Amino acid sequence: MKSIYSKLLALVFIASSVYSYAWGLTGHRIIAEIAQNHLSGKAKREIRKMLGKERMAYWANWPDFIKSDTTGVWKETSAWHYVNINPQTDFAAFEKNLKAQAGANLYSQINVLASQIKDKKTSEKDRRIALIFLIHMMGDLSQPMHTGRSEDLGGNKINVTYFGEKTNLHSVWDGKLVDSQKYSYTEYAKLLDIKSKDEVKQIQQGTLENWLYDSHQIANKVYAQTPDGSKLSYDYQYKFNDIMERQLLYGGLRLAKFLNDLF
Ligand SMILES: [Zn+2]
Repeated sequence: MKSIYSKLLALVFIASSVYSYAWGLTGHRIIAEIAQNHLSGKAKREIRKMLGKERMAYWANWPDFIKSDTTGVWKETSAWHYVNINPQTDFAAFEKNLKAQAGANLYSQINVLASQIKDKKTSEKDRRIALIFLIHMMGDLSQPMHTGRSEDLGGNKINVTYFGEKTNLHSVWDGKLVDSQKYSYTEYAKLLDIKSKDEVKQIQQGTLENWLYDSHQIANKVYAQTPDGSKLSYDYQYKFNDIMERQLLYGGLRLAKFLNDLF
């Protein structure tokens, strides 16, 4: 009895520590599932060769899971999940700031991983790892607080309550808004993935930098409407549900576009 209890406790601990990292389990899976439905034949075949039979959704959260690895081999990857940028006046200023940032971050590392996959000299194992990271990170890209400000660590330092529970703004956007809707990832992917061909094309337009800017602008809107100390509940869901769902859908469609271009 006691060992079951401690195992359960450990599970709860793992689940809650994963929770605060990124879109959260459901969000990343929704994005991967939507992307899977929009892959070109060529990309589908290549990805199948690299990942085997499992769908992309199966791997979508692995880059968060390995944060619990205690050997230290994945330590450097924790900076790959976000790029913090203070509010910029326009796209040109944003892009300049983005490109001037030193060190590995979400933006620079997406480019590094994409070139690793293209490089014929990369080993099979490394190509596979790079692909799994890309599936995850293109999801992080559409979580607005992953393109937030450095002073508050993408909202991690903005304390709020969500239905009375103490949490922070980053965490609300990672998982709480998505999970409040109580859909499974497949249900949610199906419900959101209903755009016409032309609409999909429209959403997939633009560059990686444009997509990051899109997310960053939403982060600014979120910041403006969620000051420190906010008490969030139904009205916050009501206000931001459309935007949250847009981000999941756009994340999925743009991940598909990115992979179709890559292969
Ligand atoms: Zn992440």
